[in-house]
Amino acid sequence: MSSPANFITPQLADPRLSTKRDYQMLIGGKSVEAQSGKRIERGSPGHSGAIVGSWPQASADDVCLAIGAAREAFDVGPWPRLSGAERSAILYRIAELIEARVEDLAIAECLEVGKPIAQARGEIGYCADMWRYAAGQARALEGQAHNAIGDDRLGLVLREAVGVVGIITPWNFPFIIASERVPWSIGVGCTVVLKPSELTSGTSVMMAEIARDAGLPDGVFNVVTGYGDPAGQTLAEDPGTDMVAFTGSVRVGTRIGEIAARQVKRVGLELGGKGPQVVFADADLDAAADGIAYGVYHNAGQCCISGSRLIVHEDIRDELLARVIDISRKVTFGDPLNETTKIGAMISRAHLDKVDGYVKSGRDAGAEVMIGGNAEAADGLYYAPTVFTGVRPDMAIAREEIFGPVLSTIGFRTADEAVALANDSEYGLSASVWSRDLENAMQTIRRVRAGRCWVNSVIDGTPELPIGGYKKSGVGRELGRYGFDEYSQFKGIHVTFGAPPRWFTG
Ligand code: NAD
Repeated sequence: MSSPANFITPQLADPRLSTKRDYQMLIGGKSVEAQSGKRIERGSPGHSGAIVGSWPQASADDVCLAIGAAREAFDVGPWPRLSGAERSAILYRIAELIEARVEDLAIAECLEVGKPIAQARGEIGYCADMWRYAAGQARALEGQAHNAIGDDRLGLVLREAVGVVGIITPWNFPFIIASERVPWSIGVGCTVVLKPSELTSGTSVMMAEIARDAGLPDGVFNVVTGYGDPAGQTLAEDPGTDMVAFTGSVRVGTRIGEIAARQVKRVGLELGGKGPQVVFADADLDAAADGIAYGVYHNAGQCCISGSRLIVHEDIRDELLARVIDISRKVTFGDPLNETTKIGAMISRAHLDKVDGYVKSGRDAGAEVMIGGNAEAADGLYYAPTVFTGVRPDMAIAREEIFGPVLSTIGFRTADEAVALANDSEYGLSASVWSRDLENAMQTIRRVRAGRCWVNSVIDGTPELPIGGYKKSGVGRELGRYGFDEYSQFKGIHVTFGAPPRWFTG
């Protein structure tokens, strides 16, 4: 079968594929190998046969060393005891150094994840902005004073850092997700051990090296690379971490939650999603079609906040679908290194097969593929933009997180029906509503149970606004002012002055 006209054939002779980057872990400010000497190799998912990076395969002992370094940096300091202004200055420098290395970071992220180079550049720039926002807030973090509890009493609420945080991240947005957590946690005064996905670890190591170069004290930000078990599991289980902040699947997140519960350890969970995009009959159909295509195809659909369920008013269903299908036919997908590519590669063969399995299950259940529905035979892992219609809410393609460029379309007649369909999910991570009637749009979005919502938009983000999940999509909030509370604990101090109270001897 020949490739469609919008497919961009991977160029295996691209010189950027010839540089393999070999990373080391960063523990206590030093670049180190795993004690076993074992390494994990990474091939570009967009370019068959091109090995683009390697990193150490950490054992539990390696992770314990990193936890020890973070413990010392927290318990001995000076990081948690620095002023907000001092911490802020370093966070600003990290933002500047990230900006200075956008191209380098973007190429590494593009080749490890398979995401389009232009998208990767935008993401790294956004990350610099997150570090800058956190830097600004880091010197504005405050407690409270209660001065109305009596003439001779004062109540103080002090904000303190939680301690050592184990951060575990997935493969789809390694630099963004680490940037959603690390500056907020160290901004409060925590120290960190970050374990990125074994599939895409390079840019996380680069982030920690940048932080070291910016003057962050040794041991404040450590990176260990390796598999979920034992490296991630040790971070969750070891009593040396005071908190575990996990982003990834519900399956692993549930396990992390169980470990944390047994130890009464603080936990943050950012998990999966099955985002609804509700389109009313009065929506701007061109804008909605573009947003729907972007919402489901962004990062090849490997996106927790993907808008993968189209819930559309029956009166405009055919008209809207025609536009989405037209965009799907024209949107460029293929070689992530090509400047014009909009949709890149799938992360692995196993994941591509899983996505294809969902598409088969949808067909078998009676849904109709309007476009796509197949992998591309190419030198890389590519899946064609795919649109399903005739989807029933009980089908697996309507309920489960496919994590690929696959849209499932369901019709509605009334606003109540649209809200019920949007909420008919065990997930609650994100949602969009498209309508020209702002009153209707706002009333609808307020009834949808999801943590990150858009009106007449999709996948938008800014460090000021919190993100996080309702229902099985997670526990806790990242970003904004709320993101700092996640890594803070609050101490109440009762101060008595004047004559001290006497209980037994007065
Ligand atoms: P995953 O759960 O398989 O892995 C995530 C991380 O957990 C990886 O670093 C992995 O090595 C580690 N891990 C695996 N087993 C572990 C264990 N037993 N103990 C500790 N750590 C372990 O997820 P993934 O396939 O990398 O990512 C895809 C998932 O992540 C999707 O479900 C997606 O929705 C979710 N995600 C959520 C968000 C969000 O902000 N809510 C963002 C991105 C991705």
